[in-house]
Amino acid sequence: MTQLSIFNSSKPDWLTLKFSKRAKRSWRFEWKKASGPWSWFKKRNQAVLTLPSYFQHPELKDIFPFLYEWAEITMERQTSQRKKQKRSLEKQIWQLIEDKKSNISAEIPPARQRFPQITPQGSFHNVQEHFDFVNRKYFGGELQACITWSTRIGGQSFHSLRTNARGEKVHLISISRGYDFANCPLEALRGVIYHECLHIAVPPHTVNGRRVVHGKEFRRREKLYEHYDLWIKWHAEVLPRNVRTLKRKAK
Ligand SMILES: [Zn+2]
Repeated sequence: MTQLSIFNSSKPDWLTLKFSKRAKRSWRFEWKKASGPWSWFKKRNQAVLTLPSYFQHPELKDIFPFLYEWAEITMERQTSQRKKQKRSLEKQIWQLIEDKKSNISAEIPPARQRFPQITPQGSFHNVQEHFDFVNRKYFGGELQACITWSTRIGGQSFHSLRTNARGEKVHLISISRGYDFANCPLEALRGVIYHECLHIAVPPHTVNGRRVVHGKEFRRREKLYEHYDLWIKWHAEVLPRNVRTLKRKAK
């Protein structure tokens, strides 16, 4: 880790910048909450923003004012307004990096998909509980996977292989929020979870150069799900309506 001097001129003096080769994609921000009459001053002196070392590239100097503002807002009480401002700043920072990518590519560690936030508890259903049920009943409890409600608004549920913060490969199952409704019977929710689990048990394979995801064996085993017909019917008839409701609410 190295301490920085080159951008000090524009940097607020309550903030210390550090660069880390171990930080891959994102930054880390730490500050101590102090108490007492000088608390405001003290906490500002102790704030440390640790950035991936490639952020030092001169091409990225424009992201720093955004990062300073982000740090400033982060130390305040987190209202929904401030959270929104932070998200917008993050978006602008990543956009600036994206724009400069071709000029600084040598310094950026290999791109990987960021591991999403894991949220198993929804408004009506907990996907972890139903994953455990399906795993026990159909896979002898042997499947290893991380399951979450999707962060996107849409009807898509999916399975993907991701790398977590420790560099380990992890199966990630993401379930459409369209299933997180009171009108969704457990048999339907477990149906989609079973389908995604099956992608782990019956991995995609290649036939004549073509990737087969839902092959013969997959379709055969899919029908072993006890409430297959109920799930398919619900998926076709009710899910699209629920997704439309979500989209309306999001507007
Ligand atoms: Zn599938």
